[in-house]
Amino acid sequence: MERYDIAIIGTGPAGLEAALTAKVRNKSVLLIGSKDSSDKVSKAHTIQNYLGLPDVKGDEMAKAFLKHVTDMGVEITEDKINAVYSMGQYFALQGHNSDYEASSVIVAAGMSAMKPFPGEMENLGRGVSYCATCDAALYNGRTAIILAYSPEDEPEAEFLAERAAKVYYLPQYEYAGTLGGNIEVIKEVKPKSIDRQEDKSILVTEGDTLSADGIFILRQQIAPSQLVPGLTMDGNHVQVDRSMATNIKGLFACGDITGTPYQYIKAAGEGNVAALSAVSYLQSNK
Ligand SMILES: Cc1cc2nc3c(=O)[nH]c(=O)nc-3n(C[C@H](O)[C@H](O)[C@H](O)COP(=O)(O)OP(=O)(O)OC[C@H]3O[C@@H](n4cnc5c(N)ncnc54)[C@H](O)[C@@H]3O)c2cc1C
Repeated sequence: MERYDIAIIGTGPAGLEAALTAKVRNKSVLLIGSKDSSDKVSKAHTIQNYLGLPDVKGDEMAKAFLKHVTDMGVEITEDKINAVYSMGQYFALQGHNSDYEASSVIVAAGMSAMKPFPGEMENLGRGVSYCATCDAALYNGRTAIILAYSPEDEPEAEFLAERAAKVYYLPQYEYAGTLGGNIEVIKEVKPKSIDRQEDKSILVTEGDTLSADGIFILRQQIAPSQLVPGLTMDGNHVQVDRSMATNIKGLFACGDITGTPYQYIKAAGEGNVAALSAVSYLQSNK
């Protein structure tokens, strides 16, 4: 498996700037996220406070960012990282589509507005999971509930249904898909909490409960402490020092994930610092 110098998680302003700086410093870069950058960029109306881009529409700013990194030869690997493990001299990254290795990691995954459901964290690994593709093998002949947040989750449901006896698919978006067979689509159901009773996972919804062997929550973003086990947090944010270093050697964080103010220019600036710090770390480890 190729071992990259720096793996960067997230393609918002923080991740894109980190990738650009790492590339300028001649490092091999694995940039993981969406080829469309971040919704927080592309869906913003008009931005007035980004230096050099006055009165720019969000989608125009996303295009400008993406053109810059592409012109510099940075490629985006479309994947979602589920977990990052420090292996001592390197990091192992577990993605939806593939696994990766890198000597250092920059987490630029932004902030999610969504809080975990009551009971979610307590039951993580005890019936609650974030990756249907990763855990499908455990569901041979069993039942599962999927809480889905995007049409991109539909292929995951199909994959899981090849193994599972029954999949309950609860779209939390406007569903217009064609899932069928052993997948039962249950629309307009709002989850409230998660419980575990006698080896079954229970999803409590407004007015009802649904029971299965496991529950998959396919949010776009995973809580940082789940993404990187052992990461020290400061409230909802990843704790970093001025070099964007976290408590884990070789792992840096930047952008909204490190705290307020939530601003493009702050995210990009931190991306630059994180990349330079990762470069220094690699040099000191030679
Ligand atoms: C509607 C709106 C308007 C705004 N307007 C302004 C403004 O005018 N001026 C201003 O300065 N700021 C504005 N902001 C704030 C700004 O959007 C954020 O501060 C900025 O986008 C943060 O950048 P980031 O790179 O840290 O995170 P994000 O932009 O959130 O990017 C993080 C990326 O990482 C991806 N990701 C997350 N987890 C994973 C994973 N496990 N694997 C792979 N990828 C992952 C996400 O999908 C996302 O694409 C606005 C925000 C919103 C929502």
